[in-house]
Parts: sequence; structure tokens; C-alpha cells
Amino acid sequence: MAHTDTQSFTLLCTSDIHGHIYPTDYQSRQIKHLGLAKLAAMIRQERERDPQLLLIDNGDLLQGTPLMHHFVKYNRSGIHPAIMTLNHLGYNAAVLGNHDFNYGLEILRQAVHDSAFPWLSANIIDSRTRQPAFGQPYLIRQIRQEAKVAILGLTTHFIPQWEIPEFIHGLTFIDALSAAKKWVELIRNVEKPDVMIISYHGGLERDPDTGEAVEALSGENQAYAMCTELEGVDVLLTGHQHQLLTDEVNGVTILQPGCNGLALGKVSIQLVKRKEAWMIAQKTASLILTNETVQPDIQIMKLTERHEQQTQVWLDRPIGEVFDHAPLQDPLSAGLSDHPFMDDMSPDQLDATASGLTRGAVLTSDSPESGSSVTMRDIIFDY
Ligand SMILES: [Zn+2]
Repeated sequence: MAHTDTQSFTLLCTSDIHGHIYPTDYQSRQIKHLGLAKLAAMIRQERERDPQLLLIDNGDLLQGTPLMHHFVKYNRSGIHPAIMTLNHLGYNAAVLGNHDFNYGLEILRQAVHDSAFPWLSANIIDSRTRQPAFGQPYLIRQIRQEAKVAILGLTTHFIPQWEIPEFIHGLTFIDALSAAKKWVELIRNVEKPDVMIISYHGGLERDPDTGEAVEALSGENQAYAMCTELEGVDVLLTGHQHQLLTDEVNGVTILQPGCNGLALGKVSIQLVKRKEAWMIAQKTASLILTNETVQPDIQIMKLTERHEQQTQVWLDRPIGEVFDHAPLQDPLSAGLSDHPFMDDMSPDQLDATASGLTRGAVLTSDSPESGSSVTMRDIIFDY
């Protein structure tokens, strides 16, 4: 009988964390079942089962909560709280998301510099040198000195359609699908990995089961095409659409772990050795959702406590007073017809933008009582 050997390894993935570390949505002081502090407890549990697991963040990490905003605008001392957290959790790599450019290149480059792990983005290149602008495009990891795993990082190339030009100055965004074709072939030829993983900050343009287009095929999301048009990809981690999904398209295992740290994505891979080469015997993708039984990790919260407390104080600081109480029973009708809240906001918006036309949306049904103070938290979440 031929000699066979088996191995298994675990890949964990987060995506679209959008600055959620503490278990809060910042609207109230209520505990929410989300954020990296809660995921940390789940990551630790998985690491007990597989100490060599690979942990990857798939982008949109640095923007999305008052904590992120407060750090950039009011207190940039020390390492960025999201980077401190990922460093502490021992992430192996991260991929750039479109929102990671929202505070400009200085903040982003500092975050990349302070990271204890590489940021992979093969298709965001320096316009002058034509080389990946944020360091290595892919990562090779050896599992127990045996099987070789390659992880290629890619980002939706639609960033110039959304971002302020000054914030992406000197960068060229290559079509993610064509970059994937080039790099997967190169990695296959040069590195000869046993497992080929793509971590792509982009989503699915087609239904994974029916193949029907779910949006205009603009190129913003190309994960389905990556599964059907590329040779030799085993796992495709996706994001950007904030969906919770696991599936398989054309033999490629796909996963998307939602947003805001609501879930941890997990891929378990079994390998078997045949004639001195490792082959994939089985791949399974799953999502581990946070819930009320998962306790947030104390160490993670301690690490970022100073920034979190300053953010909460900033959110609760009174910045104005309500003279006319304008109850907001129904945000939809307040947006469609005259309402004192909108009448108050619209002229400010016209002034600030120096335009002749404005529109706005009321996001909550709560409104401060007459005579009460308005806080930054009210402004952020009412409007
Ligand atoms: Zn996102």
C-alpha cells in the first residue's frame, strides 16, 4: 500500500470591520454582539485547536466608527487603535479596502508602517515604479514545515471613482481580475504552492448558485469571474458587500464574513500527501457568529481603552441646545415633507457646500427634547 500522510490547517478571516473594536455601535451604551474584542475570544479558541492557523483581514478596517474618526481628527498619539488590535491578535496579513483610503495616504501609510504584518494588495501600484505600492503582493506560509500556502491580496479597482484624488495621488489601480490572472499564474509557476488563496476586497457580481448577475457588471465586484476565469485558485475570501456567505463556485471555496465584526470566517483544509506532493482532500467554509455568550477580550479593550474613553466623552459633549421640540415620530415622512429638524439642517448644508440644491435623510426616530442639549452623538446618528 502506498504511503499516505495527512495534514489539516485552518484559515480565519475578518472583513469590513469598519473600526469596530469594542462591542458597541456608538448609538447607545448598550452592548452589541460585534467587534474585534469579541472576535478575539473566538480567534483564541480556534488557535487552541490549531496553533498554526492563518489569520487575515480582508480590508475596510480603518474607517467607520467614531473611534476611528476621533483618532484621526483629535488624538493621533501612538499606534492606530485598529492596528494595535490586529498586531496583538497576531494577524498574518491584511488587504487594503476602499475605505482604508478615506483619511488620506499619510494616515494609511503610517498604519501600514506600524503593522506587525504585511498589507497585500497586488493591484494597487506606485504609478512611477509600477510596483505594488504597499509592499509585498502575496504571502507564502509553510504549514508545519510541509505544505506551502500562498495568499494573494487584491482590492476593488473602483477606488478612484469614490476617493478624493489627493488621497490616492501617485497610485494606479489595476483591474483586479486581470491582476489576479497575472499573479496567480506567476505564483503557481514560481512558488508552486499546495494551496492557493486569494483575499479580495471586493464581492460577487453574480449569484453564486445560479450565475445570474446581481448588479451591473461594472467591474466593482469580480469574485464570480475570478472563480470561473482563473486556473488554480482553491479559496477566495471576499468582502466589500457586507454579506454573510459561504459557497463554492467552479470548485473554488468562497467566503464573506459580513461586517463590523459580527462574524469570523473560517476555512478548514485537509491535505493528503500523494507521491511527495500535497493535494487538497477537503475544504469547508463556515461562519462563526458572535453572540451574547462570547465575552469581549479584556486585553484588547485595555489596549485601546484610552482612545475609546476619549471618543465616548467627545460623543457626549453638549454642542448646542434644542429650543423648539420637534418630535420625530416617523423619520420617513419627516424626510418627505416639511419638518423643523430638516428645516434646521438644510440651510447649514447649503452653506457648507455652497450649492443651490441639497437633500438629507433623517436616520432615527429619536429627537432631543426641547431645552435639552444636543451632543455629537445626536448629530452623528440623527442625521
Ligand atoms: Zn466595507
